[in-house]
Amino acid sequence: MTWGGGMGGGGFGAPGGFGRAAAPGLPFAGIPSELQEGVDRLLESEPEHAGSELTFDQIETADETRRLSLWQILTKYPAMLVAAGVLVLVIAIASQAGPEITAQAIDRGMLAGHGNFGLVAMLAGLYLLTIVVTGVAQRSQVQVTGRIAAWVMHDLRIRVFTHLQRLSLGFFTAEKAGVVMSRMTADIENLQQLLQDGLSQLAIQALTMVVITTVLFATNVKLAAITVLLIVPALVIASIWFKRASERGYERVRDGIANVLADLSESLHGVRIVTAHNRQRRNVVHHRNILGEYRDANIYTAQVNAVYGPGTQLLGVLGQGALLAIGGTMVLHGSLQLGQLVAFFLYLNRFFQPIQLLVQQYNTFQQGQASILKLRTLLDVEPEVAEAADARELAPIDGEIVFDHVSFGYDPALPVIEDVDLRIAPGETVAFVGPTGAGKSTLAKLVTRFYDPTSGRILIDGHDLRDVTMRSLRRQLGVVPQEPFLFAGTIGDNIAFARPTATDAEIHEAVTAVGLDGVVARASDGLDTVVHERGQTLSSGERQLIALARAFLARPRVLVLDEATSNLDLQSETTIESALDVLLENRTAILIAHRLSTAMRADRIAVVDQGRIVEVGPHAELVERGGRYAEMYATWVRQSEVSEHR
Ligand code: ADP
Repeated sequence: MTWGGGMGGGGFGAPGGFGRAAAPGLPFAGIPSELQEGVDRLLESEPEHAGSELTFDQIETADETRRLSLWQILTKYPAMLVAAGVLVLVIAIASQAGPEITAQAIDRGMLAGHGNFGLVAMLAGLYLLTIVVTGVAQRSQVQVTGRIAAWVMHDLRIRVFTHLQRLSLGFFTAEKAGVVMSRMTADIENLQQLLQDGLSQLAIQALTMVVITTVLFATNVKLAAITVLLIVPALVIASIWFKRASERGYERVRDGIANVLADLSESLHGVRIVTAHNRQRRNVVHHRNILGEYRDANIYTAQVNAVYGPGTQLLGVLGQGALLAIGGTMVLHGSLQLGQLVAFFLYLNRFFQPIQLLVQQYNTFQQGQASILKLRTLLDVEPEVAEAADARELAPIDGEIVFDHVSFGYDPALPVIEDVDLRIAPGETVAFVGPTGAGKSTLAKLVTRFYDPTSGRILIDGHDLRDVTMRSLRRQLGVVPQEPFLFAGTIGDNIAFARPTATDAEIHEAVTAVGLDGVVARASDGLDTVVHERGQTLSSGERQLIALARAFLARPRVLVLDEATSNLDLQSETTIESALDVLLENRTAILIAHRLSTAMRADRIAVVDQGRIVEVGPHAELVERGGRYAEMYATWVRQSEVSEHR
């Protein structure tokens, strides 16, 4: 097994990792030698991206606290931005030089005197040159903006992810997970679209219109004024209508597809219930209705496009007719040259395209802006449990925990924990028992500082949790949740999760200590066996043992352990109970016990009910006292007897 060094700081979930895959000698992994030269050349011409300097710290850096805005995003790479600006200007001018050159060729080269072949040839060459310049500039511009977009998106993804790591547990409810996913996918993609083409197209088209209008006015003020007056108002009205109608249409399409996907996902997840209750036929009808709405929305947007595109083209043709009449008359009267009229015709055609594109790009722009707003809202969420600026390192602790008149509510108006007072001595195990919803897990979450108490204090070795850094606190705290989470990677990776630097020997020690050896021996590759998605290929008892080994390896002074509620077979239960014995030895532990058999083994038992601790004491004492615990115990004994007799 090559696990100590190979694992190092390497990421989870990347078996092999890029670094190793690209190493020479591995089959199919290196760059073929005949391509290497080309790759080297490419790499040489590739500008350096400094990479992101974001690292994780509990407190945001100055750069991250700047509010997200389009401007902030754009000015992050000023040199590239200037390059993009210059290229956009070059494109707008060079691509519109053609008609003007044509006009010159006609008026000066063909009509003046006996014609001037040399001049016409030179102008033709110039025309060609402008096309080449436009092409080259367009290529560079797409490269530059593509690169800006890629860099910016990379930074932004890291920034959002880092921010998420910093947020408190309260943020991560099931509902939020969907929202966060859509921020990271749809919204970041919208933004990418905007940065990649949207903004540059918007700038190019707007500039093109300015260039064309300027040239028209410079050529002939009167004709330019007439053209603009005839065409622009109609075009503006049509475009405003289109913008509104298409926005409405796209909203319907978006809603439509969202409903279709939601219905699809629901029927996939609920397939067992659907089948069991014979709902297939009704589901199909329901889905058809939803699909029908989606289809109608698509038809509507297609119709809107069908009116606008050809409509503006018609306007263009009408404009050309008017231009022919008016411009033609002017040519006959000698107030306009023929070449100039031709230029007017050519420019008129080109005038419509930017407007059509502008209207379309406007959608991209708006979506991008909306996405920035949503991402900004996400980045503006403050962690509820924030680290104090003057938080101190928590020195190695003995493990005394004191709840000092602690009250807490997820919603401050609805207290879940009320005035809890409890001292847990170093090395002591206290089991919390009580009905579901009593507040046992909440008490545990307060100790790990996933939430802060609304009033009162929690002290660890005499230090208020709020006065010490989270890193130093959590380094000495171990948490074993009810349903352990396994990450993509090997069993070994998962055990070493809290201490990636652990040596082979240490991992083996943890494995043996919790009695996981049998499982590891049975697994195909021992500790290197890959656990598939969230460990679904392992039994729940095995997952639990891995979580216990993980906690053992982390060697925390204080352990918070939520016992699994799932029914384990007798043998797994025995293995886990002995693993617990090893794990809890010499540690302070809070044990949320769902089985009285587990609770009985603790030094003391605290009965939690409706957010209060109603009884505390060792098992024997509580049974003797004849209170709540004694009642629970009596019921449990009766039930065990009944099941034994069966
Ligand atoms: P126990 O662990 O004893 O079953 P909990 O501590 O999980 O109980 O829950 C105590 C109360 O707090 C319950 O009424 C539960 O509905 C509520 N609660 C638990 N988690 C949350 C949460 N994230 N947001 C709001 N209320 C919660």
